[in-house]
Amino acid sequence: MSKLLVVNARVLAPDAHSAPHADLLVEKGRIAAVLPPGTAVADAQTHDAAHRLVIPGLVNGHTHGHGGLAKGSGDKWDLALLLAHAPWISGGRTLEDKRLSTALTAVEMLKKGCTAAFDLPFEFPAPTVEGLDAMAEAYAAVGLRAVVAPMVADLTFFQATPGLIEALPEPHRSRAAAMKAAEAGTILDAIEAAAKAWRHDAKGITLGCAPTIPLHGTDEFLKGCRALAEKFGMKMQTHVGESRYQSAGGAVRYGGATLLEHMDRMGVVGPWFSVAHGVWLTQSDLDLLARRGGGLSHNPGANMRLASGIAPVRAAIRAGVTVGIGTDGSSSSDNQNMFEAMRLAAFASRLWEDAEDDDWLGTAETVRLATAGSAKLLGLDAGTIEPGKPADLVFLDLQHVNWAPLNDAANQLVWTEDGSAVREVMIAGDWKLREGKVLGLDEAKLARDAQNAADRLRGVNAEVRAWCEAVAPHVACHCRALAKGWTRSRRLLKAE
Ligand SMILES: [Zn+2]
Repeated sequence: MSKLLVVNARVLAPDAHSAPHADLLVEKGRIAAVLPPGTAVADAQTHDAAHRLVIPGLVNGHTHGHGGLAKGSGDKWDLALLLAHAPWISGGRTLEDKRLSTALTAVEMLKKGCTAAFDLPFEFPAPTVEGLDAMAEAYAAVGLRAVVAPMVADLTFFQATPGLIEALPEPHRSRAAAMKAAEAGTILDAIEAAAKAWRHDAKGITLGCAPTIPLHGTDEFLKGCRALAEKFGMKMQTHVGESRYQSAGGAVRYGGATLLEHMDRMGVVGPWFSVAHGVWLTQSDLDLLARRGGGLSHNPGANMRLASGIAPVRAAIRAGVTVGIGTDGSSSSDNQNMFEAMRLAAFASRLWEDAEDDDWLGTAETVRLATAGSAKLLGLDAGTIEPGKPADLVFLDLQHVNWAPLNDAANQLVWTEDGSAVREVMIAGDWKLREGKVLGLDEAKLARDAQNAADRLRGVNAEVRAWCEAVAPHVACHCRALAKGWTRSRRLLKAE
C-alpha cells in the first residue's frame, strides 16, 4: 500500500489530556503527517475512523512468552515460590509448545492494544536456535515487534540462593543438589548460533540476551553474556532486585556490593541494558543505572501478585533512568494487558512510602512511560503520534461504555480503559487487528491447540510437579527468613 489517510479520527494528545480531531497520513510504515481534518491528499486510500480514538501502540517493557501456556498456574506464590514451581509450569515443552506459548502471549498483547514487547523466553536446559526461531515466527505471524532475549542461567535457583540446598531436608536436598543448569559455554554457543542464523530483523523482531537474575549466573557467564551482546549489538535485560530475598542473597554473595553493582562490575550495565522490576534498588543503584544510560521496566502487577513490593519509579525518573512499564509473563501477572499495567503503575505510585503528592504518576506521564518509555528499552524510537514515527497505532471505540462520555482522554485511558474498547491495531502501517479480530492467525484453532497442549503437559509434568509441591514450603521458609533478616539490617542502617 502506498499512502493511507486515516480520516475522522480523534488523536490522543496526552499532555493536553485531550483528543482533537486530526487526519493521519501513513506512508512506508510511518506517520508521514498529522493533518487538519479534511485536508486533501492526492493518491491516498482513505480509512474512515469515525468514533475512534487513535493512540500510540502500547509497548510492553517486560514479559515472558513461555508464560502463555502457564497462565493461572499459581495462587499464593511469592517470587521464590514461583521459581520453585518453575520446573513444572514451564517444563516438558516441545518446539510446537514454545511457538504456541509465544503466539498466545503475542495475541493477547495485540488484542489489548500492545504493538511491541521485550520478551524473555525460557527454554530448558538451554536456548536453542530452533526454539528462538519458532518464537520469532510466532511474533511475526501475529505481527508484533519484539526483542526476543533468551532468559539464561548457568546456576539453578537452588544453587543461586545462599543456604537453600543446605536448608532442605532429605531426600529433597539430594535431588535439589543434583539439579544442574547447562554449562555456560553451551548456553552462549546456542545464543551465538541463533544470532548468526537470525532472519527476523526486517520484521522488527530482534534477538537479545537476558541473564535472568544476577545470582543465577557465575561471573564468567555474566561476562560471556555481555561479550556476546556486544558482538551482535543485542539489548540486554535482567531481573534485578525484584524481591527482598534476592537482595539478601546479593548481600551474602557479593561482599558488600549490591546486585546491580555486581552486574556493573561484570560490564553488563550500559545503554543496552535494562533492569526488570528493580523494586529493591537503592538510590545509589538508581544513580549508577542513570550514569550508565540504562533503563528500568516497572512491572507493578507482577510485583503485587508476587508480594515483591513497589518499585521506586519516581526516584528512578529523578535520577535520570529511562523508565518503561511492563506486564511480566503470564505465569506471574497473569494477563498481558498494558492498560491494566498503566492503571496499576499509577495506583501503586500513590502508595510510595514518604511520597509527596507531586511524586505520584499522573495519567499523561503514565501513558508516556508505557509508550515512548518502554519503546526506548527495546531500542525503538516510537510511542508518539508525530511525523516520522512508526505507524504503530491503536484504535479505540469511542462508542464503547468505557468512553461514554469522553471527559478527559488521558485520564480515561489510564483509569477507565481495560483493553475492551480496542477495535483495530496497525503496526508499521499494516493492519494486524480489524474489528477485534487478529488477521494473522486462526484464534479458534489457537485456543484448541492451547487446551490440548496444557492437558498433555499436565501429564508430562505430573511427577516433577509433585516434587515441587513437596519442596515449596521449605523454599518459602528459607527465602522468607533470608528476606526478613535483610529487611531488619536495612532498618537498623536507616535508624543509625
Ligand atoms: Zn520477569
